[in-house]
Amino acid sequence: MKFTTKTIHAGQKPDKATGAVTVPIYQTSTYKQDEINVHKGFEYSRSGNPTRQALEECLAALENGRFALTFSSGLAAEHAVLSTLKPGDHVIAAEDMYGGTYRLFEQVFKPYGLQFTYVSGNTGDFEKAVKPETKLFWIESPTNPLLRIIDISGVSAIAHKNNIKVVVDNTFASPFFQQPLLLGADLVVHSTTKYIGGHSDLIGGALIVNDEEWYAKLKFLQNAIGAVPCAFDCWLMLRGIKTLSVRMKQHEENALRIATFLESHQRITQVYYPGLPSNPFHNLAKKQMTGFGGMISFKLLQGDEKAANSFFKKLKIVSLAESLGGVESLICYPSAMTHASMPEEQRNAIGVTKDLIRLSVGIEDVEDLIEDVSQGLNYSRTI
Ligand SMILES: *Cc1c(COP(=O)(O)O)cnc(C)c1O
Repeated sequence: MKFTTKTIHAGQKPDKATGAVTVPIYQTSTYKQDEINVHKGFEYSRSGNPTRQALEECLAALENGRFALTFSSGLAAEHAVLSTLKPGDHVIAAEDMYGGTYRLFEQVFKPYGLQFTYVSGNTGDFEKAVKPETKLFWIESPTNPLLRIIDISGVSAIAHKNNIKVVVDNTFASPFFQQPLLLGADLVVHSTTKYIGGHSDLIGGALIVNDEEWYAKLKFLQNAIGAVPCAFDCWLMLRGIKTLSVRMKQHEENALRIATFLESHQRITQVYYPGLPSNPFHNLAKKQMTGFGGMISFKLLQGDEKAANSFFKKLKIVSLAESLGGVESLICYPSAMTHASMPEEQRNAIGVTKDLIRLSVGIEDVEDLIEDVSQGLNYSRTI
């Protein structure tokens, strides 16, 4: 089955009992047993739920993986991954990452004895940081918020030579544009809150993995910790996924148009979008992705919080908000929003400066978006 057919059919056979073509919302906490421990595969909805199972089968198929597990948020999914490590274990992460992931590493798992080293996204830097205790490489690609591209197969080759596993947060690309397991990664993380859900109406997370032993550990933790998504959210995700292909194509088409517009704007000093031929990661992106996605970051001339606020206040269609990947365009100010949980020194080191703005390009008519951003950039500096 091709990708787009999978989005609509994988894990989603018509309901045996009624013929319903849409997977029902199994809004139940528990299941009647015929005899003690004799049941139809479900006992209690923290351990398993048919709507969730359909979603997990679909996600595994989309990422070309064997197993998927879903969680109540992207961070809950990440928490499960890190919970498979033990005190003393070491993780090497690419420094340009989601602020909440950094906070989970530094403020939750470091006190439990895990060690973290942050490196640039360059392949060689991962190799240099390897220690005997290194168990995981953790990368995002494209990265948040600077849209850098990390060579997934290059990093995976180094990892495997050293018996280390590679986790890729594939939230920004979505499986439509990139399938990290096929590039050699061992585990894929998603914040399904973003493109997978696609409509800014839920919080969710997912893991996709091939290794059966790791999957068994993660499945145990999914149930033992209990951060599972509810049936309704699973149903919303399944509904969202059905249009993933058409949405992603439109996000990308709009993003390329807007990035090109921004690149020639006199109030913009820098545009970060891997789809631009001028972008230093363009060729690598072309090699490992089938498209460039819908996220753009850019820097405002003489940009600071005040200038950014003046710009945001003038916008009529694009909303100032956290999050990304929905049908509606959202803009944010990383240094004080998504990356506020990262110390300023660390933010400056990776380029998340006060003039940086991140735009999640929606699927509205692109002419309207360009007009909105264009009039917004006309803000007066004295406001
Ligand atoms: C949003 C996000 C997360 C966290 O996911 P939640 O669903 O908000 O918990 C992790 N990684 C990336 C890249 C994200 O954008």
